[in-house]
Amino acid sequence: MQDHLTKATIPGMRAFAAVTTHLTEMARKRHNCLPIATAALGRTMTGSLLLAANLKNDEGITIRVQGNGPLGKIVTDAGANGSVRGYVENPRVDLPLKNNKLNVGEAVGQGTLYVTRFTGLKDPFTGSVELVSGEIAEDLTHYLAASEQTPSLLALGVLVNTDLSVIAAGGLMLQALPGAQEEVITAVEENVYRLPSISQMFAEGKTPADILAGVFEGFPLSLHEQTELSFRCQCSRQKVERVLISLGRDELNDMIKEGQAELTCHFCADTYNFTREELQEIRDKALDADETERNEK
Ligand SMILES: [Zn+2]
Repeated sequence: MQDHLTKATIPGMRAFAAVTTHLTEMARKRHNCLPIATAALGRTMTGSLLLAANLKNDEGITIRVQGNGPLGKIVTDAGANGSVRGYVENPRVDLPLKNNKLNVGEAVGQGTLYVTRFTGLKDPFTGSVELVSGEIAEDLTHYLAASEQTPSLLALGVLVNTDLSVIAAGGLMLQALPGAQEEVITAVEENVYRLPSISQMFAEGKTPADILAGVFEGFPLSLHEQTELSFRCQCSRQKVERVLISLGRDELNDMIKEGQAELTCHFCADTYNFTREELQEIRDKALDADETERNEK
């Protein structure tokens, strides 16, 4: 099953379900994650895709989980178009299981969750809340209640195999709209609590549409268009060159003395190599840029 997100509505409520198995596996391989990091990163990437699903097509969300646990910070970017990328600072963290589950909460620790919305028009807006448990879904639910005043329920799950690969990953976000009837909310919440865990359902081969049918069981639901999801980074050699130019002449001269440079993108772990000759060309561009700046002053 290709990773995708489906939206369903009933009067007064909406829900999004996303299967993210392949993109979580892609992130795990790129960052060489151990299971706790795979779970933490997979949950955060899925959460950002669910939050981005409420935005317009060219808009996006950045989530930064800044905890004091051994994983360090987790950063993910997602677009309403279904693209996502992300990294965790220390992907090789390993902790004993807690109640037979990956102890993501302890690996994340205490700290703050930041959510930034990029709308393209206005300045980006960042909201933040203290982490509740570090388990991500609970923290994002708390964020939505506190910052966006949308009563929401989030479930996120990543199931990891003994060979470290991802068996299934995905998430569900349920939101009550203004004017929703109390008894409808209660009935839908009871449906949700009866469902198995989200990663279990995807591992059994259920689709997001199947899960949404279970969430809104007993109600006539409308299914909306689905969005394909994938791990995609926006980095390029050209962008890395611009970063090098911005470092300035002195730093570039140091790199030239070393003979070469290798730069790695945080988000996708792609590496970009530059030879001495290429670095010299970039330094000459930096020289030009410096001079232009001086002439402008
Ligand atoms: Zn990248």
